[in-house]
Amino acid sequence: MKYCSNYDKPVELLIPKDDDRPRYACHACGIVHYQNPKQVVGCIPKWENKILLCRRDIEPRKGKWTLPAGYLENGETVKDSAMRETFEETGR
Ligand SMILES: [Zn+2]
Repeated sequence: MKYCSNYDKPVELLIPKDDDRPRYACHACGIVHYQNPKQVVGCIPKWENKILLCRRDIEPRKGKWTLPAGYLENGETVKDSAMRETFEETGR
């Protein structure tokens, strides 16, 4: 990260007060731009006493078996996200 998304000013890598690791911060607006892992949600679908899996159709790991899952969207509950990702990835 080089620039603040709020003011298009350069950010600085520093350890904010009450934190223990370096973060990108903007002196112009005072925002700390946290770069945490994206939350991935999914489900374990059961059907007739079996667990259903998806076969990946895209890279990475194309052709490998997986569970339907994906990134949580802003403002979405974990349950709604798991249902949406399952529908998107299975078409059901
Ligand atoms: Zn800023």
